[in-house]
Amino acid sequence: MVAIDGPSGAGKSTIARLLAQRLGFAYLDTGAMYRAITWHFLENGVAPAECAGDPDGGRERMQKALAAAGLQIDAGRILLNGRDVTSHLRTREVESQVSAVSALPFVRARMRDLQRQVAAHGPVVAEGRDMGSVVFPRARWKVYLDAAPAERARRRCQDFARQGRAVSEQDVLEEILVRDRLDSTRSDGPLKQAEDSLYVDTTGMTTGDVVERLLRLVRGDHGDHDDHDDRAEEAR
Ligand code: C5P
Repeated sequence: MVAIDGPSGAGKSTIARLLAQRLGFAYLDTGAMYRAITWHFLENGVAPAECAGDPDGGRERMQKALAAAGLQIDAGRILLNGRDVTSHLRTREVESQVSAVSALPFVRARMRDLQRQVAAHGPVVAEGRDMGSVVFPRARWKVYLDAAPAERARRRCQDFARQGRAVSEQDVLEEILVRDRLDSTRSDGPLKQAEDSLYVDTTGMTTGDVVERLLRLVRGDHGDHDDHDDRAEEAR
């Protein structure tokens, strides 16, 4: 298990996917799982913003919708009740609600179970916010990827441009800072660096540089010396 955490736009998805390919491990994008549930809530009119007027904040309607959501992860695609929703996940509509959805303890409990089921099948590179800290605390390798906020906003804008959407970097910067604040201040599974993780600041690094860096970490470790000391040294 390689557990990769970090804030939005730090390059986790691209790097984790490439690292998994190079290692021959499965790749688990847990952000896509939270995005898929958010998309499902939006489709069913039960996203947190739409439930604000409910006496229970929409808890009951959301729990019902969650129970009806059959989530499958299949070779990097996300299927919801049999429908491939992968192309709907990286939109601003989903991004505006995903932090509120992922702060719900009943959503996190369900996602954690699914993530552990996937990892039970064999070696995995898993990326998200709470991989090393909560879901896979005993992961063999833990990495925290970070980058300067302006660079993270630039990368997200490039993602949107690939979807044919022109968005201002300033708007995206503000959105990711809001998402980071919500993700790191929630009580359940907040974004935080696990103590025994390797911190990598990817600002100014190419994707290839970061992947090589992580390959060295994984391949250079034969398990015959203290992992924690090794990471601490690399972090310096
Ligand atoms: O990584 P990505 O930007 O796709 O994640 C989308 C959102 O999903 C995050 O902003 C966060 O709210 C949520 N998330 C989470 N825990 C994870 C992965 C993602 O709460 N392990």
